[in-house]
Amino acid sequence: MLRQTEKCQAAFARGEKVLVGGVNSPVRAFAAVGGTPPTIAKGKGAYVTDIDGNTYIDYVGSYGPLILGHAYEQAATAIGKQAIRGASYGAPTTDETLLAEAIAAAIESVEKVRFVSSGTEAAMTAVRLARGATGRSKIIKCAGGYHGHMDALLVSAGSGATTLGVPSSAGIPASAVADTILVGYNDVNEVKQAFDLANGQVAAVLIEPVAGNMGVVPPETGYLSDLRTLCDGSGALLIFDEVMTGFRVSYGGAQQLYGVRPDITVLGKIIGGGMPVGAIAGPAKLMDHLAPLGSVYQAGTLSGNPVTMACGLATISALRSEGFYEQLEDTSANLEAGILRAAAAANLEGKVCINRVGSMLCCFFRAGPVRNYKEAKSSNLQAFAVYFQAMLQAGIYLPPSQFESIFVSSAHTKIDLKRTVEAAEEAFAEAAKLM
Ligand code: PMP
Repeated sequence: MLRQTEKCQAAFARGEKVLVGGVNSPVRAFAAVGGTPPTIAKGKGAYVTDIDGNTYIDYVGSYGPLILGHAYEQAATAIGKQAIRGASYGAPTTDETLLAEAIAAAIESVEKVRFVSSGTEAAMTAVRLARGATGRSKIIKCAGGYHGHMDALLVSAGSGATTLGVPSSAGIPASAVADTILVGYNDVNEVKQAFDLANGQVAAVLIEPVAGNMGVVPPETGYLSDLRTLCDGSGALLIFDEVMTGFRVSYGGAQQLYGVRPDITVLGKIIGGGMPVGAIAGPAKLMDHLAPLGSVYQAGTLSGNPVTMACGLATISALRSEGFYEQLEDTSANLEAGILRAAAAANLEGKVCINRVGSMLCCFFRAGPVRNYKEAKSSNLQAFAVYFQAMLQAGIYLPPSQFESIFVSSAHTKIDLKRTVEAAEEAFAEAAKLM
């Protein structure tokens, strides 16, 4: 059944007059897939409903924070209770200590936390902290790795930037990226060469331990521990950007899943449960370089915002329930198997491939394996766009880009999965005409 879209079309057209591109973050604009994005009126559990009244099974999950689904009751209640007591004070609160304690208890490498308001801010501060603590300037990052839109890191930056075909951005002077060294994901040799060329000047290797902004690309066996060894050998810091993977691929993040300990962890998304958040976290001896104790300056009017902290606490608490991650893994594995069955039914076996780490999943429109950005980029983007549109028509809301992860939540039921797989069968059949 075709969706009604009149109200959404009108609302978007109205928005476009006062919001740049009608959106507040580029990937939401459907630039890669065409058409008008639905204007969302509400979300509950695994579903979002637009202003025309169409309800979708949602696999965007606000790009990661909503591991419990939309409007999770305890989180919504916590937001409401705190809002009544005040939205912001600019002074210490108990909840920010409680959330920092919960993060330090969950992530082995963490003793102290500094909360900020976005993942971008957190990554930016992590870089400054690494430079301040080491007295060095160079940062090694991966092509297709996204760490927010800080100047120095917006080089070959995955997802939104890739989708729009903008590998970096206008407005960034060459001097801002002069100390950024690009390497290919999953390629240890390139990192070795980068260290050799940098002549002892590498402050940090900054990496998404599971790449989530070039689709989903898991680290190959030994890759993360090799990075650890290389950093140790040269006195550089290893920074894991766990904005996406933190509390998602396991309670202790990707570092727990793969058993590799970074020096600094960058967090965001889930720790705010859908409220704006970011955090830099690590051992006290490093974190104490930050102001007011140390000489690395960082500040924020809304940092550790009380409403965010309350929502984050309620969210993190729910993740500690018995068997939470096992169940999420089960759901996600079933979804993967179902999508692969649907692809096979449309004669696309071997022509698409799925990368999945826990509840992060991406179906690439190319043969596997996909191990890095270069391989991800050679996907059939037209076929993806056709698949995306067919899924949307069928009431399945996917991220509108080949280079984004699908996020499964604990709210997705077996019935949701069944409907998704049925829709995928037809969507793959459409996409197959282009492959
Ligand atoms: N790092 C990673 C790994 C991310 O996925 C993102 C956002 N998707 C960011 C940093 C930036 O976070 P934010 O959008 O909150 O600024």
